[in-house]
Parts: sequence; structure tokens; C-alpha cells
Amino acid sequence: MLGLMQEWPLLCHKILDHAGIQHPRREIVSRSIEGPIVRTTYSDIRTRALKVAQRLERDGYGVGDRIATLAWNTARHIEAWYGIMGVGAVYHTLNPRLFPEQLVWIMNHAEDKAIFVDLTFLPLVEKIAAAVPSLKQVIVLTDKAHMPQTALPNAVAYEEWLAEADGDFQWKSLDEGAAAGMCYTSGTTGEPKGVVYSHRSNVLHAMMAAMPDAKGIGSKDIILPVVPMFHANAWGLGQSAPMIGAKLVMPGGKMDGASIYELLDTEKVTFTAAVPTVWLMLLQYLEETGKKLPYLKKVVIGGSACPRAMTKKFQENYDVEVIHAWGMTEMSPLGSLCTMKPEYAGLEGDERLNIEEKQGHAPFGVEMKVTDDENKSLPWNGKTFGRLKVRGPAVAAAYYGGAGKEQFDEEGWFDTGDVAHIDANGYMQITDRAKDVIKSGGEWISTIDLENLAVGHPDVAEAAVIGVRHSKWDERPLLVIVRKPGKEPEKSDILGFMDGKVAKWWMPDDVAFVDEIPHTATGKIQKTTLRKQFSDYRFP
Ligand code: ADP
Repeated sequence: MLGLMQEWPLLCHKILDHAGIQHPRREIVSRSIEGPIVRTTYSDIRTRALKVAQRLERDGYGVGDRIATLAWNTARHIEAWYGIMGVGAVYHTLNPRLFPEQLVWIMNHAEDKAIFVDLTFLPLVEKIAAAVPSLKQVIVLTDKAHMPQTALPNAVAYEEWLAEADGDFQWKSLDEGAAAGMCYTSGTTGEPKGVVYSHRSNVLHAMMAAMPDAKGIGSKDIILPVVPMFHANAWGLGQSAPMIGAKLVMPGGKMDGASIYELLDTEKVTFTAAVPTVWLMLLQYLEETGKKLPYLKKVVIGGSACPRAMTKKFQENYDVEVIHAWGMTEMSPLGSLCTMKPEYAGLEGDERLNIEEKQGHAPFGVEMKVTDDENKSLPWNGKTFGRLKVRGPAVAAAYYGGAGKEQFDEEGWFDTGDVAHIDANGYMQITDRAKDVIKSGGEWISTIDLENLAVGHPDVAEAAVIGVRHSKWDERPLLVIVRKPGKEPEKSDILGFMDGKVAKWWMPDDVAFVDEIPHTATGKIQKTTLRKQFSDYRFP
């Protein structure tokens, strides 16, 4: 027997319809690429997204065509996104921090036909366009007055291009399983791999991400997604915010402490999200200026482990709740969020921080397990760590073009490549990437735990731990440190600070000071490069 309920496919443009109809006057405020702060509404965005779809169709794009975006978070980027999806095409967000050769590789793999590009990145597109034969058109996200001279044959100013449409367009009716978007993982090992989101997976992900014990956001929130739309869908905020009718504040290309603070303050932002590096800059700015955060209630921190010292500062100095989150491009991206279940409610101080160091619990729609190398499930005791595997309706079932088959098993579990343990209340903690974990005398040492501890030292700006070959123990940890400007801590100061806070045999065998630690395009420590840098290093 089948249910007798309506067929109402879960399509992304229905999110924007809802926002435009139910929350028409809610603002979207952007720091524009041209400079000024620009204000628009969900009603306007919806009309303009319909125009984007109409114009794309007139230009010959349709169902399944991949259309790239190379842009910061702005209202125009959001309109372009929904317009692309609304004509049945597939947005392909590109990360401008990738090397030009990587962008060319990704665009050719996806066979992008057109690209929406910010003024900032036009020179980059000029450099690579000829190497992407599928690319027919470049739409520059600006108006005629700001449109620069370009040698690109098919470049057009977005506002001029859009002005030729009247918005009298019906969104394409699609199967909810149709592709909506694409994002490539940065491929720290091997070639980048393409993840293809469906309309259904995006809609379900947006719902589960907004729930009370996940991000816990609603129409009264004012949301600043500092995390870029090209970093795994701005962690779902580009869809969750219109779904719940929250005001959006888009930071454009400025992510420094002063610029982010200005938006938090003038727009009275209540909720924001980004990787730890962004928050380091903001916290430093606040410390230098003595400014406070009277409006901000919650900050989501993920992409790499959120150091305990950062959580403590936000909560104790600024009264802002930190939600530590873990996810992957392959998971749309949210996998877990560290909000307090009743079992941990009421914890304070260090006890609470102990929990908040964990990456948190899975929302509805994410199943999780940790296994040993033989795929045997390990107990949820908060200690036993193994390979973290996940499945769910917003988790990739395969990569575009069939790469990485070994990461998916026949029961639908996706091997994340992360090493983690889960406690009895379902709180998961990442201890490492499988390829970064240090194997010392047959036992594993968590590099993330050591890094978190080291950045708690007041003179340490950033820390990374890598395994270095050791004659007796196979591998031993080397702690690599970037000191805070003007500070000169000795090795012994740092090791002394860590002593007693981790198992003796986990203590790094040496400390190396560097000016800079290499990062990936999404702000993670690039351990492959660091290992190469220290390939000749021998312990004293
Ligand atoms: P990339 O940013 O490299 O394109 P992803 O964003 O998909 O790719 O990276 C996912 C990986 O980032 C996870 O598998 C995990 O290793 C790491 N990661 C994400 N969030 C956290 C976190 N809160 N703590 C530790 N590691 C994290």
C-alpha cells in the first residue's frame, strides 16, 4: 500500500520561492566587490534568480549543464546559484585559492560551459579560459560602469545581461534526484574528486542543518556566512537561511578581523560560521581594540579542529556560544555538531570545554560508525578509535566520473578517511586524518590533540604535528610552531606547558620553529608539504 500524499519534489528553487513569498522583505546585505554595502531582499533575489534562469535558457543552457561560479559570498552569487539550479543546470563552485592548473583540471573534468565570475577573479579567468574548451561564456558579476576591458571573447557584464530578461519564467520541473550542484574536494592526495549534490540532498541537508540541536537557527537570526559558498556550499547556509527566512549578511571578499567585526556590529549579526583561521584574525582584532560582541550569539567553527583556547575565549570573554562542527564536501558538508544534549547540559568551565573539543553528534540524516581495518564496528566508549564511516541522504554515493570507488562499500558506507572515537552519548571526536596519524611503536598518536594543546600556549600562533622517522619507534611526533609576533618562547617553555596534559609517550620529541605553516585552499594545514619540508630532519 502506498501513502496518499502529494508528490512535491524537494527542489532547491522551492526554498527561494518560500523565502520570497513568506519572508519577502527580509534583507540580504552584501559587502559588494565594487566596495559599498548593498541591500536587497528575498523578494528581489527571487525575481532576479528567475531572470538568471530565463536568461540562461535563452543563451542555450539547460538541464544538466555545468555552470561554474568563481565568486565570494554576495547576493549576486546567491541569485546566480538559484538561477542556475532553477533552469535545471548544475552550479559548480570553484575555489579561487586553488592554483590555476588545478582550476583548469577541475573545469575540464566538469566540462563547465559558462562561468559567473567576480571582478576580483577576472584576471584569473583570462589566464585559464583558453585551456577550458567547453567554456562558452563569461558573465562578470558587476554592472556596465564597473566592467573592465577584457580580451575574453564572450565576456558580458552581469547586470546588462540580466536586464534583457523580465523574470517571466517558470522554474524547470525536475526530478528531485536531479543534479543541483558540484564541488570538488581539494585533493591533498591525488587528483581532485567531484561531488555532485542533488536537489533532494541539498534540501534535506538545509533542513537538518537548521534544526534546534544542529545550528538552531530561525527567522529572527541574522546570519553571516563567512565560510565561502565555494567551501562546500557555505556549510549549507546558502540554503538554510532562505529556508528559515533569516536575514543574510554576505561578507564579499573581505575576511580580515576589522571587516568581519564591522559587519557583525553594524548588522547586529546573531549567527556566523567559518574555519578557525578566520576566527583567529577576529579574536586578535578584538584583543587589540578592546571591542566586544554584544549581538553575536553563536559561532560555528569547523573545517579543521577548533582549538580549546578559541572556544574558551569566545565563550568566556565574549559570551558567544561555540558550535564545533565536522563535515566534508562529500557530506554536503555537515556530519556532526557539538551542541549540548541533556546528558551534558549544565556542564561548565573545563568540563564543558572537554566536551566541546569533540566534533559533536550526528544530526538526523547522518549515520555514523567507527571500524577497525577489518571493518568491524568498534565500541562507543569515547576512547577506542578507528576509521570513521558515514551514510545518509546528503552523503555522496560516488564521485563524478567514478574515481575513489574504494571509499564506498556495498552497504552504502562512505569511508571518510578520518580517524575518530565516539562516546556513549554519540559525541564523535576526530583524532586525525588516517594519512596523518603517527604510528609510534605500534600505537597511534593523535596529531590533532597535540596541536590543540600547543596552540593553548599564549606565545604560539599556530602549531602542526607530523610524524618523523625514528630508528626505534618507527615514527615520533615533531611539533612545528609559528610564534606570535614579538614572542620568543623556547622549546622547553612549550614542552613544559604540554607536559602532564597528554600521555608521556605522546609528547613531541622535538620542536621546530618556522615563519609559516603551509595551508590548503580551504585553510587546512597542508601536512604533505610540511612532511616534505622536514624530510631531511633527524631527531637530535
Ligand atoms: P577540503 O576543505 O579539503 O576541500 P573538506 O572540507 O571536505 O575538504 O575537508 C573535510 C575534512 O576536513 C574532514 O575529513 C576532516 O579531516 C577535516 N575536518 C573538517 N572539520 C573538522 C573538525 N571540526 N575537526 C577536525 N577535522 C575537521
